[in-house]
Amino acid sequence: TETTIDPALQSAYDEVLRRNPGEHEFHQAVEEVLGSLGPVVRRHPHYLEASVIERLCEPERQIIFRVPWTDDAGQVQINRGFRVEYSSVLGPYKGGLRFHPSVMLGTVKFLGFEQIFKNALTGMPIGGGKGGSDFDPKGRSDAEVMRFCQSFMTELYRHLGEYTDVPAGDIGVGGREIGYLFGQYKRITNRYEAGVLTGKGLAWGGSRARTEATGFGTVYFAREMARHAGLSLEGTRVVVSGSGNVAIYAIAKVTELGGTVVACSDSSGYVVDEAGIDLELLREVKEERRERISAYAARRPGATFVAAGSIWDVPCDVALPCATQNELDEAAARQLVSHGLEIVAEGANMPCTPGAVRVFREAGVLFGPGKAANAGGVATSALEMQQNASRDSWTFEHTDARLGQIMTSIHERVVTTAEDYGRPGDYVFGANASGFTQVADAMLAMGV
Ligand code: GLU
Repeated sequence: TETTIDPALQSAYDEVLRRNPGEHEFHQAVEEVLGSLGPVVRRHPHYLEASVIERLCEPERQIIFRVPWTDDAGQVQINRGFRVEYSSVLGPYKGGLRFHPSVMLGTVKFLGFEQIFKNALTGMPIGGGKGGSDFDPKGRSDAEVMRFCQSFMTELYRHLGEYTDVPAGDIGVGGREIGYLFGQYKRITNRYEAGVLTGKGLAWGGSRARTEATGFGTVYFAREMARHAGLSLEGTRVVVSGSGNVAIYAIAKVTELGGTVVACSDSSGYVVDEAGIDLELLREVKEERRERISAYAARRPGATFVAAGSIWDVPCDVALPCATQNELDEAAARQLVSHGLEIVAEGANMPCTPGAVRVFREAGVLFGPGKAANAGGVATSALEMQQNASRDSWTFEHTDARLGQIMTSIHERVVTTAEDYGRPGDYVFGANASGFTQVADAMLAMGV
Protein backbone atom coordinates (compact mmCIF):
# COMPACT_ATOMS: atom_id res chain seq x y z
CA THR A 1 0.00 0.00 0.00
CA GLU A 2 2.86 2.34 0.86
CA THR A 3 4.10 2.72 -2.70
CA THR A 4 0.74 4.01 -3.92
CA ILE A 5 0.53 7.76 -3.71
CA ASP A 6 -2.74 9.25 -2.46
CA PRO A 7 -4.61 11.10 -5.28
CA ALA A 8 -4.36 14.32 -3.22
CA LEU A 9 -0.55 14.13 -3.49
CA GLN A 10 -0.23 12.94 -7.07
CA SER A 11 0.21 16.41 -8.58
CA ALA A 12 3.03 17.19 -6.12
CA TYR A 13 4.76 13.96 -7.11
CA ASP A 14 4.23 14.61 -10.84
CA GLU A 15 5.87 17.99 -10.34
CA VAL A 16 8.91 16.31 -8.75
CA LEU A 17 9.19 13.98 -11.77
CA ARG A 18 8.85 16.89 -14.21
CA ARG A 19 11.39 19.11 -12.43
CA ASN A 20 14.01 16.42 -11.77
CA PRO A 21 14.18 14.23 -14.89
CA GLY A 22 16.24 11.03 -14.65
CA GLU A 23 16.95 11.33 -10.91
CA HIS A 24 15.58 7.88 -10.07
CA GLU A 25 16.92 7.60 -6.53
CA PHE A 26 15.46 10.99 -5.70
CA HIS A 27 12.09 9.97 -7.17
CA GLN A 28 12.23 6.76 -5.12
CA ALA A 29 12.92 8.63 -1.86
CA VAL A 30 10.10 11.12 -2.51
CA GLU A 31 7.66 8.38 -3.52
CA GLU A 32 8.48 6.47 -0.34
CA VAL A 33 7.65 9.47 1.87
CA LEU A 34 4.60 10.66 -0.09
CA GLY A 35 3.33 7.07 -0.04
CA SER A 36 2.84 7.46 3.71
CA LEU A 37 1.32 10.93 3.80
CA GLY A 38 -2.22 10.32 2.46
CA PRO A 39 -3.76 9.72 5.91
CA VAL A 40 -1.77 12.66 7.33
CA VAL A 41 -3.05 15.24 4.85
CA ARG A 42 -6.58 13.88 5.11
CA ARG A 43 -6.41 14.50 8.86
CA HIS A 44 -4.66 17.88 8.41
CA PRO A 45 -5.99 19.41 5.16
CA HIS A 46 -4.25 22.71 5.93
CA TYR A 47 -0.94 21.12 4.85
CA LEU A 48 -2.40 20.79 1.35
CA GLU A 49 -3.90 24.27 1.36
CA ALA A 50 -0.49 25.74 2.19
CA SER A 51 1.30 23.59 -0.46
CA VAL A 52 3.61 22.25 2.23
CA ILE A 53 4.49 19.13 0.22
CA GLU A 54 5.38 21.04 -2.94
CA ARG A 55 7.53 23.39 -0.85
CA LEU A 56 9.31 20.50 0.89
CA CYS A 57 10.11 18.66 -2.33
CA GLU A 58 12.02 21.63 -3.74
CA PRO A 59 15.40 22.18 -1.99
CA GLU A 60 15.92 25.66 -0.57
CA ARG A 61 19.27 25.91 -2.37
CA GLN A 62 21.42 23.65 -4.58
CA ILE A 63 25.11 24.33 -5.10
CA ILE A 64 27.15 22.65 -7.86
CA PHE A 65 30.82 23.51 -8.27
CA ARG A 66 34.05 22.56 -9.99
CA VAL A 67 36.75 20.94 -7.86
CA PRO A 68 40.16 21.19 -9.57
CA TRP A 69 43.15 19.48 -7.95
CA THR A 70 46.56 18.11 -8.89
CA ASP A 71 47.32 14.39 -8.59
CA ASP A 72 50.67 12.92 -7.53
CA ALA A 73 51.79 12.67 -11.16
CA GLY A 74 51.30 16.43 -11.55
CA GLN A 75 48.19 16.01 -13.68
CA VAL A 76 45.27 18.38 -13.08
CA GLN A 77 42.05 16.50 -12.24
CA ILE A 78 38.52 17.88 -12.29
CA ASN A 79 35.65 16.63 -10.13
CA ARG A 80 32.20 17.95 -9.46
CA GLY A 81 31.13 19.07 -5.97
CA PHE A 82 27.59 19.33 -4.63
CA ARG A 83 25.79 20.68 -1.60
CA VAL A 84 22.02 20.53 -1.47
CA GLU A 85 20.71 22.74 1.32
CA TYR A 86 17.32 21.17 1.59
CA SER A 87 15.45 22.50 4.58
CA SER A 88 16.41 24.92 7.33
CA VAL A 89 13.12 25.13 9.23
CA LEU A 90 14.32 23.08 12.22
CA GLY A 91 17.93 24.32 12.33
CA PRO A 92 21.05 24.82 10.23
CA TYR A 93 21.32 22.46 7.24
CA LYS A 94 22.85 19.25 8.53
CA GLY A 95 23.99 16.14 6.74
CA GLY A 96 27.05 14.33 5.47
CA LEU A 97 29.33 14.56 2.47
CA ARG A 98 29.69 11.51 0.23
CA PHE A 99 32.78 11.00 -1.94
CA HIS A 100 32.07 8.19 -4.41
CA PRO A 101 32.29 7.94 -8.21
CA SER A 102 28.53 7.25 -8.42
CA VAL A 103 27.59 10.59 -6.80
CA MET A 104 25.48 12.91 -8.94
CA LEU A 105 22.97 15.62 -8.16
CA GLY A 106 20.09 13.14 -7.87
CA THR A 107 22.05 11.09 -5.31
CA VAL A 108 22.66 14.12 -3.13
CA LYS A 109 19.01 15.17 -3.46
CA PHE A 110 17.71 11.77 -2.39
CA LEU A 111 20.01 11.77 0.62
CA GLY A 112 19.17 15.38 1.49
CA PHE A 113 15.44 14.71 1.25
CA GLU A 114 15.70 11.74 3.64
CA GLN A 115 17.90 13.76 5.94
CA ILE A 116 15.14 16.35 6.57
CA PHE A 117 12.84 13.76 8.15
CA LYS A 118 15.61 11.78 9.83
CA ASN A 119 16.92 14.90 11.50
CA ALA A 120 13.40 15.89 12.58
CA LEU A 121 12.93 12.46 14.17
CA THR A 122 16.02 12.94 16.36
CA GLY A 123 14.25 15.82 18.13
CA MET A 124 17.45 17.85 17.79
CA PRO A 125 17.52 21.39 16.26
CA ILE A 126 18.95 20.46 12.84
CA GLY A 127 17.66 21.05 9.31
CA GLY A 128 18.39 18.78 6.36
CA GLY A 129 21.14 18.86 3.74
CA LYS A 130 23.66 16.65 1.99
CA GLY A 131 26.70 17.05 -0.23
CA GLY A 132 29.51 15.26 -1.90
CA SER A 133 31.51 14.66 -5.01
CA ASP A 134 32.11 12.09 -7.73
CA PHE A 135 35.73 11.97 -6.51
CA ASP A 136 36.91 8.38 -5.94
CA PRO A 137 39.20 8.18 -2.89
CA LYS A 138 39.96 4.49 -3.62
CA GLY A 139 43.63 4.09 -4.56
CA ARG A 140 44.42 7.77 -3.96
CA SER A 141 47.37 8.74 -1.77
CA ASP A 142 46.96 10.68 1.43
CA ALA A 143 48.39 13.78 -0.24
CA GLU A 144 45.91 13.51 -3.12
CA VAL A 145 42.98 13.18 -0.72
CA MET A 146 44.28 16.24 1.15
CA ARG A 147 44.57 18.37 -1.98
CA PHE A 148 41.12 17.28 -3.12
CA CYS A 149 39.56 18.14 0.27
CA GLN A 150 41.29 21.53 0.30
CA SER A 151 40.01 22.41 -3.16
CA PHE A 152 36.51 21.18 -2.27
CA MET A 153 36.44 23.42 0.81
CA THR A 154 37.92 26.39 -1.07
CA GLU A 155 34.54 26.67 -2.79
CA LEU A 156 32.23 25.20 -0.16
CA TYR A 157 33.39 27.33 2.82
CA ARG A 158 31.39 30.37 1.65
CA HIS A 159 28.16 28.39 2.06
CA LEU A 160 28.91 26.96 5.51
CA GLY A 161 28.81 28.16 9.11
CA GLU A 162 27.81 26.81 12.50
CA TYR A 163 24.46 28.64 12.19
CA THR A 164 24.11 28.03 8.44
CA ASP A 165 25.21 24.63 7.20
CA VAL A 166 27.14 21.93 9.06
CA PRO A 167 28.47 18.97 7.00
CA ALA A 168 29.85 15.69 8.34
CA GLY A 169 30.99 12.41 6.81
CA ASP A 170 29.21 9.76 4.78
CA ILE A 171 30.53 7.10 2.38
CA GLY A 172 34.18 7.94 1.50
CA VAL A 173 34.41 10.72 4.10
CA GLY A 174 35.77 9.80 7.54
CA GLY A 175 37.97 11.38 10.18
CA ARG A 176 40.90 11.95 7.80
CA GLU A 177 38.79 13.87 5.27
CA ILE A 178 36.97 15.91 7.95
CA GLY A 179 40.43 16.92 9.26
CA TYR A 180 41.59 18.19 5.87
CA LEU A 181 38.25 19.96 5.29
CA PHE A 182 38.27 21.61 8.72
CA GLY A 183 41.91 22.70 8.31
CA GLN A 184 41.10 24.45 5.05
CA TYR A 185 37.97 26.12 6.48
CA LYS A 186 39.99 27.43 9.42
CA ARG A 187 42.82 28.63 7.14
CA ILE A 188 40.49 30.54 4.81
CA THR A 189 38.16 32.08 7.39
CA ASN A 190 40.72 32.67 10.18
CA ARG A 191 38.12 31.37 12.63
CA TYR A 192 38.25 28.36 14.94
CA GLU A 193 34.62 27.60 14.30
CA ALA A 194 34.47 24.05 15.67
CA GLY A 195 30.71 23.70 15.10
CA VAL A 196 30.99 24.09 11.31
CA LEU A 197 31.77 20.39 10.76
CA THR A 198 31.05 17.27 12.81
CA GLY A 199 32.94 14.01 13.02
CA LYS A 200 36.08 15.88 14.06
CA GLY A 201 39.01 14.28 15.90
CA LEU A 202 38.78 14.15 19.69
CA ALA A 203 41.76 16.50 20.15
CA TRP A 204 40.18 19.28 18.09
CA GLY A 205 36.49 19.51 18.96
CA GLY A 206 35.16 16.09 18.09
CA SER A 207 32.68 14.14 20.21
CA ARG A 208 33.30 10.82 21.86
CA ALA A 209 31.01 8.10 20.48
CA ARG A 210 30.48 9.94 17.17
CA THR A 211 32.51 7.33 15.26
CA GLU A 212 30.49 4.52 16.81
CA ALA A 213 27.15 6.34 16.75
CA THR A 214 25.52 5.25 13.48
CA GLY A 215 26.30 1.55 13.96
CA PHE A 216 25.54 1.56 17.69
CA GLY A 217 22.35 3.55 17.10
CA THR A 218 21.10 1.12 14.45
CA VAL A 219 21.52 -1.77 16.88
CA TYR A 220 19.89 0.20 19.73
CA PHE A 221 16.95 0.77 17.39
CA ALA A 222 16.81 -2.92 16.40
CA ARG A 223 16.91 -3.81 20.11
CA GLU A 224 13.89 -1.55 20.73
CA MET A 225 12.04 -3.15 17.80
CA ALA A 226 12.77 -6.59 19.21
CA ARG A 227 11.78 -5.60 22.74
CA HIS A 228 8.51 -4.06 21.51
CA ALA A 229 7.64 -7.37 19.80
CA GLY A 230 8.63 -9.45 22.83
CA LEU A 231 11.87 -10.63 21.18
CA SER A 232 15.56 -10.19 21.99
CA LEU A 233 18.78 -9.79 19.99
CA GLU A 234 20.53 -12.19 22.34
CA GLY A 235 21.34 -15.48 20.67
CA THR A 236 20.28 -14.28 17.21
CA ARG A 237 22.12 -14.86 13.92
CA VAL A 238 22.81 -11.54 12.28
CA VAL A 239 24.02 -10.53 8.82
CA VAL A 240 25.52 -7.05 8.46
CA SER A 241 26.28 -5.90 4.91
CA GLY A 242 29.17 -3.51 4.37
CA SER A 243 32.41 -3.23 6.35
CA GLY A 244 32.77 0.53 6.68
CA ASN A 245 32.18 2.76 9.67
CA VAL A 246 28.48 1.92 10.09
CA ALA A 247 28.91 -1.85 9.66
CA ILE A 248 31.94 -2.15 11.96
CA TYR A 249 30.21 -0.56 14.95
CA ALA A 250 26.94 -2.37 14.25
CA ILE A 251 28.92 -5.64 14.39
CA ALA A 252 30.59 -4.53 17.62
CA LYS A 253 27.28 -3.71 19.33
CA VAL A 254 25.43 -6.82 18.14
CA THR A 255 28.28 -8.95 19.47
CA GLU A 256 28.24 -7.07 22.79
CA LEU A 257 24.50 -7.71 23.11
CA GLY A 258 24.92 -11.44 22.61
CA GLY A 259 24.11 -11.84 18.91
CA THR A 260 26.43 -13.50 16.39
CA VAL A 261 27.30 -11.65 13.19
CA VAL A 262 27.98 -14.43 10.67
CA ALA A 263 28.67 -12.36 7.52
CA CYS A 264 29.74 -8.94 6.27
CA SER A 265 30.81 -7.57 2.88
CA ASP A 266 32.38 -4.93 0.69
CA SER A 267 31.92 -4.08 -3.00
CA SER A 268 34.11 -7.07 -4.00
CA GLY A 269 32.11 -9.78 -2.21
CA TYR A 270 31.26 -11.11 1.23
CA VAL A 271 32.74 -13.28 3.97
CA VAL A 272 30.94 -15.91 6.04
CA ASP A 273 32.33 -16.63 9.49
CA GLU A 274 30.07 -18.93 11.50
CA ALA A 275 32.13 -18.39 14.65
CA GLY A 276 31.20 -14.69 14.55
CA ILE A 277 33.08 -11.86 12.81
CA ASP A 278 36.41 -11.10 14.53
CA LEU A 279 36.18 -7.35 14.98
CA GLU A 280 39.89 -6.77 15.57
CA LEU A 281 40.80 -8.53 12.35
CA LEU A 282 38.06 -6.78 10.38
CA ARG A 283 39.26 -3.37 11.57
CA GLU A 284 42.83 -4.22 10.74
CA VAL A 285 41.86 -5.29 7.21
CA LYS A 286 39.44 -2.46 6.41
CA GLU A 287 40.59 0.51 8.51
CA GLU A 288 44.33 0.11 8.94
CA ARG A 289 45.42 -1.69 5.77
CA ARG A 290 42.48 -0.55 3.59
CA GLU A 291 42.36 -4.02 1.94
CA ARG A 292 39.55 -5.93 0.23
CA ILE A 293 37.32 -8.11 2.42
CA SER A 294 38.89 -11.32 0.98
CA ALA A 295 41.96 -10.50 3.11
CA TYR A 296 39.78 -11.19 6.18
CA ALA A 297 38.98 -14.75 5.05
CA ALA A 298 42.61 -15.34 4.07
CA ARG A 299 43.73 -14.68 7.63
CA ARG A 300 40.84 -16.19 9.59
CA PRO A 301 40.59 -20.00 9.91
CA GLY A 302 37.08 -21.25 9.16
CA ALA A 303 35.97 -18.10 7.32
CA THR A 304 35.12 -18.20 3.61
CA PHE A 305 35.13 -15.47 0.97
CA VAL A 306 32.40 -15.44 -1.68
CA ALA A 307 32.99 -13.21 -4.70
CA ALA A 308 29.79 -13.96 -6.63
CA GLY A 309 26.20 -13.96 -5.37
CA SER A 310 24.59 -11.97 -2.60
CA ILE A 311 25.30 -11.68 1.11
CA TRP A 312 21.52 -11.95 1.59
CA ASP A 313 21.75 -15.63 0.63
CA VAL A 314 23.18 -16.18 4.12
CA PRO A 315 20.33 -17.21 6.47
CA CYS A 316 19.78 -14.97 9.50
CA ASP A 317 17.23 -13.80 12.08
CA VAL A 318 18.26 -10.15 11.86
CA ALA A 319 19.46 -8.31 8.74
CA LEU A 320 21.28 -4.99 9.06
CA PRO A 321 21.97 -3.54 5.59
CA CYS A 322 24.81 -1.08 6.26
CA ALA A 323 26.41 -0.70 2.81
CA THR A 324 24.59 1.54 0.33
CA GLN A 325 21.31 2.40 -1.43
CA ASN A 326 19.27 -0.33 -3.16
CA GLU A 327 21.63 -3.10 -2.07
CA LEU A 328 18.81 -5.41 -0.95
CA ASP A 329 16.21 -6.11 -3.64
CA GLU A 330 12.95 -8.03 -3.83
CA ALA A 331 14.62 -11.36 -4.68
CA ALA A 332 17.02 -10.98 -1.75
CA ALA A 333 14.10 -10.12 0.54
CA ARG A 334 12.23 -13.29 -0.52
CA GLN A 335 15.33 -15.35 0.11
CA LEU A 336 15.75 -13.86 3.60
CA VAL A 337 12.06 -14.39 4.42
CA SER A 338 12.25 -18.03 3.30
CA HIS A 339 15.12 -18.49 5.77
CA GLY A 340 13.05 -17.18 8.70
CA LEU A 341 14.10 -13.52 8.92
CA GLU A 342 12.42 -11.60 11.76
CA ILE A 343 13.91 -8.10 11.90
CA VAL A 344 15.48 -5.65 9.44
CA ALA A 345 16.99 -2.31 10.52
CA GLU A 346 18.55 -0.10 7.85
CA GLY A 347 21.99 1.21 8.83
CA ALA A 348 22.58 2.63 5.36
CA ASN A 349 20.36 5.18 3.61
CA MET A 350 17.61 3.49 1.52
CA PRO A 351 19.41 0.12 1.23
CA CYS A 352 16.16 -1.80 0.64
CA THR A 353 14.33 -1.37 -2.66
CA PRO A 354 10.57 -0.63 -2.57
CA GLY A 355 9.97 -4.23 -3.73
CA ALA A 356 12.02 -5.58 -0.82
CA VAL A 357 10.11 -3.45 1.67
CA ARG A 358 6.83 -4.77 0.23
CA VAL A 359 8.02 -8.37 0.69
CA PHE A 360 8.98 -7.69 4.33
CA ARG A 361 5.63 -6.04 5.01
CA GLU A 362 3.64 -8.92 3.48
CA ALA A 363 5.68 -11.48 5.42
CA GLY A 364 5.19 -9.66 8.72
CA VAL A 365 8.92 -8.99 9.14
CA LEU A 366 9.65 -6.02 11.44
CA PHE A 367 11.19 -3.36 9.20
CA GLY A 368 12.97 -0.28 10.61
CA PRO A 369 13.57 2.31 7.85
CA GLY A 370 16.90 4.14 7.73
CA LYS A 371 15.55 7.56 8.57
CA ALA A 372 14.68 6.17 12.00
CA ALA A 373 17.15 3.31 12.43
CA ASN A 374 20.32 5.11 11.30
CA ALA A 375 19.54 8.51 12.83
CA GLY A 376 22.05 7.90 15.64
CA GLY A 377 24.93 9.24 13.56
CA VAL A 378 23.41 12.61 12.85
CA ALA A 379 21.91 12.78 16.37
CA THR A 380 25.40 12.42 17.81
CA SER A 381 26.60 15.08 15.37
CA ALA A 382 24.02 17.35 16.99
CA LEU A 383 25.50 16.38 20.38
CA GLU A 384 28.92 17.33 18.99
CA MET A 385 27.52 20.74 17.97
CA GLN A 386 26.10 21.11 21.47
CA GLN A 387 29.52 20.38 23.03
CA ASN A 388 31.20 22.82 20.63
CA ALA A 389 28.69 25.57 21.43
CA SER A 390 29.32 25.19 25.17
CA ARG A 391 33.08 24.53 24.72
CA ASP A 392 32.60 21.31 26.59
CA SER A 393 33.68 17.71 26.09
CA TRP A 394 31.57 14.88 27.44
CA THR A 395 32.65 11.39 28.48
CA PHE A 396 32.05 8.39 26.25
CA GLU A 397 29.56 6.97 28.75
CA HIS A 398 27.51 10.15 28.88
CA THR A 399 27.44 10.60 25.11
CA ASP A 400 26.62 6.94 24.43
CA ALA A 401 23.84 7.11 27.05
CA ARG A 402 22.37 10.18 25.30
CA LEU A 403 22.54 8.30 22.00
CA GLY A 404 20.71 5.36 23.57
CA GLN A 405 17.98 7.66 24.93
CA ILE A 406 17.58 9.37 21.55
CA MET A 407 17.19 6.04 19.72
CA THR A 408 14.63 4.90 22.28
CA SER A 409 12.68 8.13 21.91
CA ILE A 410 12.75 7.90 18.09
CA HIS A 411 11.39 4.36 18.39
CA GLU A 412 8.70 5.55 20.78
CA ARG A 413 7.73 8.45 18.52
CA VAL A 414 7.51 6.22 15.44
CA VAL A 415 5.50 3.51 17.18
CA THR A 416 3.09 6.00 18.79
CA THR A 417 2.47 7.83 15.52
CA ALA A 418 1.77 4.56 13.70
CA GLU A 419 -0.67 3.51 16.43
CA ASP A 420 -2.32 6.93 16.44
CA TYR A 421 -3.20 6.41 12.75
CA GLY A 422 -4.38 2.85 13.31
CA ARG A 423 -1.30 1.25 11.76
CA PRO A 424 0.45 -0.50 14.65
CA GLY A 425 3.88 -1.92 13.81
CA ASP A 426 4.19 0.10 10.60
CA TYR A 427 7.58 1.74 11.15
CA VAL A 428 7.71 3.17 7.61
CA PHE A 429 4.45 5.01 8.10
CA GLY A 430 5.28 6.10 11.65
CA ALA A 431 8.69 7.51 10.68
CA ASN A 432 7.42 9.37 7.63
CA ALA A 433 4.29 10.74 9.29
CA SER A 434 6.07 11.83 12.45
CA GLY A 435 9.11 13.40 10.72
CA PHE A 436 6.92 15.16 8.17
CA THR A 437 4.49 16.57 10.74
CA GLN A 438 7.28 18.21 12.73
CA VAL A 439 8.80 19.83 9.66
CA ALA A 440 5.43 20.86 8.20
CA ASP A 441 4.28 22.52 11.44
CA ALA A 442 7.52 24.53 11.67
CA MET A 443 7.20 25.57 8.02
CA LEU A 444 3.64 26.77 8.54
CA ALA A 445 4.64 28.73 11.64
CA MET A 446 7.32 30.60 9.70
CA GLY A 447 5.11 31.61 6.78
CA VAL A 448 5.76 31.46 3.06
N1 GLU B 1 25.90 10.84 6.81
C1 GLU B 1 25.25 10.53 8.04
C2 GLU B 1 23.75 10.38 7.82
O1 GLU B 1 23.31 9.98 6.79
C3 GLU B 1 25.58 11.52 9.15
C4 GLU B 1 25.23 12.95 8.86
C5 GLU B 1 25.70 13.93 9.92
O2 GLU B 1 26.24 13.52 10.94
O3 GLU B 1 25.51 15.13 9.69
O4 GLU B 1 22.94 10.60 8.66
